[in-house]
Amino acid sequence: MTHSATLAAAGLTPADLTGGTLTVRSPIDGADLARVHETPASEMPVLIARAKSAFTQWRTVPAPRRGELVRLLGEELRAAKADLGALVTLEVGKITSEGLGEVQEMIDICDFAVGLSRQLYGLTIASERPGHRMAETWHPIGPVGVISAFNFPVAVWSWNAALALVCGNPVIWKPSEKTPLTAIATMRIMERALARFGDAPQGLCQLVIGGPEIGAALVDSPDVPVLSATGSTRMGGIVGPKVAARWGRPILELGGNNAMIVAPSADLDMAVRAIVFGAVGTAGQRCTSLRRLIVHRSIRDDLVARLTKAYASLPIGDPRAEGTLIGPLIDEAARDRMMHQLTRARADGGTVHGGQPVTQGVSPGAYVTPALVEMPAQTATVREETFAPILYVLTYDAFDDAIALQNDVPQGLSSCIFTLNLREAETFLSAAGSDCGIANVNIGPSGAEIGGAFGGEKETGGGRESGSDAWKGYMRRQTSTVNYSAHLPLAQGVRFDL
Ligand code: NAD
Repeated sequence: MTHSATLAAAGLTPADLTGGTLTVRSPIDGADLARVHETPASEMPVLIARAKSAFTQWRTVPAPRRGELVRLLGEELRAAKADLGALVTLEVGKITSEGLGEVQEMIDICDFAVGLSRQLYGLTIASERPGHRMAETWHPIGPVGVISAFNFPVAVWSWNAALALVCGNPVIWKPSEKTPLTAIATMRIMERALARFGDAPQGLCQLVIGGPEIGAALVDSPDVPVLSATGSTRMGGIVGPKVAARWGRPILELGGNNAMIVAPSADLDMAVRAIVFGAVGTAGQRCTSLRRLIVHRSIRDDLVARLTKAYASLPIGDPRAEGTLIGPLIDEAARDRMMHQLTRARADGGTVHGGQPVTQGVSPGAYVTPALVEMPAQTATVREETFAPILYVLTYDAFDDAIALQNDVPQGLSSCIFTLNLREAETFLSAAGSDCGIANVNIGPSGAEIGGAFGGEKETGGGRESGSDAWKGYMRRQTSTVNYSAHLPLAQGVRFDL
């Protein structure tokens, strides 16, 4: 399929693609895809006011009815899956099955949120006072700002939007400036769902296009009580304090530096498959990508040999082609950062296998061979997240040292262990084990399901999105005490008799 055909199939019109100031290039071959119109910063107050006005209506719509809108969104996404998935591949460079997988994740969170729309449960609480009843109720909170990263250009919006909408909140979305096309196409799908729904307020779902300055308008506005920001730790370090300073609620989903411990009892066949997918899937551009391998000394040489062999046979190239497993990095800057980090790793005493630019047999784009780097220690280079397929191999002797190494990085997103030893597995999951938001046994660190709460600790930001009770982050909690007695006793036995 030509680029134009992919763009048209995803519902993008010439008006979407021309006449603007933001150039969009495909990482597949560097072709110019569009010049997209950016949202003028001067319009942001109007858009935020529109969301605020939509909130006054949407918050009074019964939650199961709000769920109906998300159900329709899920239907529209099912119908558009192939076309939107192909556009994700064109704009981000993900292989076809991962582009489709991203849209499937959007469908899954819609299904989850529809059920949730009938389950926004509060508590009843035993009161210490006779004739009193206490309860906790969850209410809509107001417009939710969503700032998303390039690497999950549409799924992150859906994790936030599906929950925010059933919780009674409008959404304003600022996608990455590298991926506005998938965002515009997603908005078209949302518009179809809104049209079928019928009576949703204007301004319930809005899209703004631009760079950090457009995001900053959401970050700084007191009329955006919840700001969900996904991206680098650098970005979160700016955005989080700004939102907190105006008493807003930040939901931060930032960088990871995810590790796998491979113990002597591990099923190495399974481990190798999990390592390769975790480290090189999405060309190492997942927040949950595997970046550090902490291997027991007794199996290290065997594992490195198997991985080197597996790495040598990985098909690299056009992500649309059948059989390709590694597509391009998002741009040349990402490839340059990868090469720079490999130079640093060598200077730290690392032995680098792979990690070369690929220029033969591929279109112009930032194609690389994934790198496997044997490191003598967890140096400053290893402790940084490099958004590229670099896997550092570290060695351990004692199990406690493996856990200490795993935790001794600033980030705390995802982690895993391969072991058949119950004590090791349970220790890894215990309070003395992994300090990450996600900890897995005998599966890799990436590829989370939407049913669990997603997010991480430390410099990953502490936010949670998606499943479990992450919806509570999009609502305000109200504790109520009702006195149905004829007396007015005070709590804690306080006397205040007039
Ligand atoms: P990035 O930080 O460069 O940009 C992310 C978004 O933040 C973009 O929309 C950008 O315009 C916006 N932004 C940047 N500075 C801003 C500012 N000062 N004010 C307001 N908005 C601002 O990240 P990226 O390169 O697009 O994505 C890669 C990073 O995202 C990696 O670090 C990855 O680990 C992380 N990520 C984390 C998760 C997660 O759930 N934890 C998921 C996906 C990606």
